[in-house]
Amino acid sequence: MAKKVQEAEKKATKTPAAKAKAEETKTVQSTVVQDVNTEKKATADGDLSVEQKLINLYELQTMLTEIDKIKTLRGELPLEVQDLEDEVAGLQTRIQNFQLDSKDIDTSIGQQRIKITDSNTLVNKYKEQLENVRNNREFDSLSKEIEFQGLEVELAEKHIREFTAESKNINEEIAKSKTLLEERQADLKSKKEELDEIVSETKIQEEQLREKAKQLETTIEPRLLAAFKRIRKSARNGLAVVYIQRDACGGCFNKIPPQRQLDIKLRKKTIVCEHCGRIIIDPQLAGVE
Ligand SMILES: [Zn+2]
Repeated sequence: MAKKVQEAEKKATKTPAAKAKAEETKTVQSTVVQDVNTEKKATADGDLSVEQKLINLYELQTMLTEIDKIKTLRGELPLEVQDLEDEVAGLQTRIQNFQLDSKDIDTSIGQQRIKITDSNTLVNKYKEQLENVRNNREFDSLSKEIEFQGLEVELAEKHIREFTAESKNINEEIAKSKTLLEERQADLKSKKEELDEIVSETKIQEEQLREKAKQLETTIEPRLLAAFKRIRKSARNGLAVVYIQRDACGGCFNKIPPQRQLDIKLRKKTIVCEHCGRIIIDPQLAGVE
């Protein structure tokens, strides 16, 4: 993960701001080096070698990076949970609306069925009356009524077919939405559990890391610690201490001159990158190689 961030950082080094930063840190470098040279005067860390200080500094950074990671984990999960909650609520509303539509259609189908029954009743009544007609006019009139009610029945049946098709579509939509809802609810449940777990788990972890970091900080001379914090703040990936990677700075990936690399490997001075201002250490101190 750190490598990815470092690569992103690489792109940023050519900006004017980064150049200004590099200028600023060159000043830091001279003060840092001076500090190291006069370290006998230093407070709590008077007896520590430069090498040990660099190891401590790297360890401190590793802890702070861990804390950053915990924060990132927490920072994204609550948002994901919120998004899922919104989606679940949206789906529930959608299903409710579909169900209301479906109910309306059922009512309409029921009304059309009543119409058919009514028409059939009338047709039967007219057919009985037909047997007792007294003249042609009555016969014609009843025949027309029977024909009309027959058309009414056909129309109602047509409506029922249309409503049934519509109802089928809506029920399919309801089924789809319900499947989606179940999936999202399951996602939400697991994300919520994940978040709860991280919060409860990392709480202790973070406290332990902070406690250890505090202890480590007391072993680092104040001016070096202040410089470290300043560099860390201005570095987007939060890395103030990097190691040599393929003859280059592990932070900005600019080449380090051979003599400077040699100085770094000697571990007698605190050396910062000419380009990005990060403190560069021997990979072995970082437990690499
Ligand atoms: Zn650099």
